[in-house]
Formats: sequence, structure tokens, C-alpha cells
Amino acid sequence: MLFWRDVSGVPNHYKKDETYHNIRKALGQVDVVDVDGGRVRVYVNADEPLQFTRRAGFANGDVIRVTLKYEDLHGYCFTSKRISHKEGTCHELSEGQREKNRLDRIEQKEKEERAMREAFSLTTRHAPERARSPG
Ligand SMILES: [Zn+2]
Repeated sequence: MLFWRDVSGVPNHYKKDETYHNIRKALGQVDVVDVDGGRVRVYVNADEPLQFTRRAGFANGDVIRVTLKYEDLHGYCFTSKRISHKEGTCHELSEGQREKNRLDRIEQKEKEERAMREAFSLTTRHAPERARSPG
């Protein structure tokens, strides 16, 4: 599958062909390099783990660390980082781990919702009191 990957974390003075070609060497089969847009288009093998960070080295010894973002990537396995399946059917997880991850995520969501409700009720509780009428 072809994916555009946004490459962020490239210092301005390294925003040039050489950098993206270095990164592309690390990523494998690159289709197009868009230096101005700061992105590379690569073939992603659905059975290979996705990569989200990469180091690129330069002739002068500098090494930079870049972050990769996949455009139009709508789902992948959070455990093995593969797009061939979702976590629910991952072979790298035992039944118990899958269930635990699922519950962890539900708990996380509930925690966030609770925090949001509490933040909301705090603001209402601490709303300025009505001015007392004189006398
Ligand atoms: Zn998996």
C-alpha cells in the first residue's frame, strides 16, 4: 500500500533533498520525495511494523531524529503496529492480554470523561456568587 508520511522534526537547515533521501534509505521503498511539503511517499508492507520515529545520519556526523505521521491511515494494530489487522485479532497477543488492553482503553476513556465532568462542575461551583442586595 502507498502512504504519504509527513516527516516532522527536520531542522530548517536540513530541509533539503539529502535529508529526505537519507530518511528514505532507512524507510525502504520510497515512491516520491516531496521536500517542500516535508513528506515522503512510501510503500508500506501490511505485514511489517509501522515506524513512527527514525534517525537520519549525515556525512558531517550529525544525527537527527524525525517523527513520521501517516496520512490517511485509519486503523492499525496498536500492539504490533501492523495495518494488516486490528488489535482485536492480533496474533502477538494472548486472549487475556487482548481483553486487558480493551478494558484498559475503556477505563482510560471513562477516566477522561470523569475528569471532564469534574472540570465542568468545578467551574459551575466556583461561579461568582450573585451580588448581595444592599440592606
Ligand atoms: Zn498486531
